[in-house]
Amino acid sequence: MTLPVLIIGAGLGGICLAQALHKNKIPYKLFEQDQKSNFRAQGYRLRITQDGVAALEEALTPELFTLFEKTCADTANMGIRIKPDGTPSPAKPGHGPPPQAMVERVYTIDRSTFRETLLTSLEDQVFFGKSLTHYEVHDDKITAFFTDGTSEDGALLVGADGVRSCVRKQYIPKYAGIDTGMRIIFGKTPLTPAFLDKLPESHRRGMSLVTDPDDASQPTLLFESIHFPHADEVSFPLPSPYMYWCLLARASTLPIPDEKSWHISPQDAADLSRDLTKSWIPALQSVFEMQDESQAAVKSILSAMPEIAPWESSSRVTLLGDAIHAMPPTGAMGANTALRDAGDLARRIVEAGCAGAVDRDVIGAYEADLREFAKRAIGVSWKGGMQSFGLRAAEECERILF
Ligand SMILES: Cc1cc2nc3c(=O)[nH]c(=O)nc-3n(C[C@H](O)[C@H](O)[C@H](O)COP(=O)(O)OP(=O)(O)OC[C@H]3O[C@@H](n4cnc5c(N)ncnc54)[C@H](O)[C@@H]3O)c2cc1C
Repeated sequence: MTLPVLIIGAGLGGICLAQALHKNKIPYKLFEQDQKSNFRAQGYRLRITQDGVAALEEALTPELFTLFEKTCADTANMGIRIKPDGTPSPAKPGHGPPPQAMVERVYTIDRSTFRETLLTSLEDQVFFGKSLTHYEVHDDKITAFFTDGTSEDGALLVGADGVRSCVRKQYIPKYAGIDTGMRIIFGKTPLTPAFLDKLPESHRRGMSLVTDPDDASQPTLLFESIHFPHADEVSFPLPSPYMYWCLLARASTLPIPDEKSWHISPQDAADLSRDLTKSWIPALQSVFEMQDESQAAVKSILSAMPEIAPWESSSRVTLLGDAIHAMPPTGAMGANTALRDAGDLARRIVEAGCAGAVDRDVIGAYEADLREFAKRAIGVSWKGGMQSFGLRAAEECERILF
């Protein structure tokens, strides 16, 4: 019997890997801790650029790639750059638009739409409400154990389980990363007539920044109107137009204890966004007053070390995406790097013929390339964060086990 690849985590990287294996008829099973019904509340907009697009193009059938394209939103250019009081906030030399605005091939996606669209065609091999607790490696297989008491055997287990990866904690127990000390509060505000009445036309065009380089106590806001130009061409509903926004703030400037911010409800995250911007001009405050409160969330911005230390490879376990190389979202590289990893790993499994034929050398070569690519992506992300979002240099931030 051919044992499947066990993919832990149906985020962007895990889904891309599953799609690539599906296309190449390699058996797999994809396990996701969330219930499918929770997906809607995890949407933010993402930019997918060259390496991510190339991986998706290879992983998806032409029909599915066309469907993916139709579910994408318009990609905006740079919009305004102002201070919280509404006056211009000129960019310093070298502080231009984030890198993704300058590349040629770029798609703008809604994370929850992407997951729903691409998971549909994999339905019978995707298992929701399955949270991995640990795995056991045997001579001829690997066994994954879940919180519901069940287990599954596979030939290879791939941890695509995000920044606090349970697979990584077991595979590389001494892995240390960086707490940047920055927190991100993000959400969506529906573009209703009432909201548009409050927002000047100039604030609706492009990806805009609110930043005061002279006042580090103020968070930085990035916001952008999201429209789905091909909504009429797909047979399922795409989200109504919304404004995507994210506030980046230092943990020390939040009005709540840092540990609490990791666990707050969407309602509390929405309240926090309003509290942090209460001195801002009314047009900007309306972004937070009129938000969809079920969509707000807070995350710590954690990062892998700029140079990830090598580890001893296994023939039965590996990692991809944020599970091994989380990075600040300020370079728009995290998802792209996860997709690149997924495409590369799938190619190597297909070349080996099946997951059972993958040996330690194959995984070792995949992981060496992953570290090399991640190093560049982490560098771009820190550069963007330090230039435009007040990120401190990596050497000044706290090392943590996460
Ligand atoms: C506001 C914001 C904006 C961003 N913008 C961009 C952008 O424009 N471009 C870009 O490239 N990147 C961007 N990023 C970064 C990007 O979202 C991540 O790098 C990317 O989602 C990582 O994908 P992943 O598949 O590795 O992990 P994730 O997408 O985090 O998926 C991990 C999955 O694993 C599941 N899981 C976790 N533990 C378990 C378990 N024990 N058992 C089973 N399942 C488990 C989780 O529920 C989740 O579904 C942004 C991030 C944020 C927060």
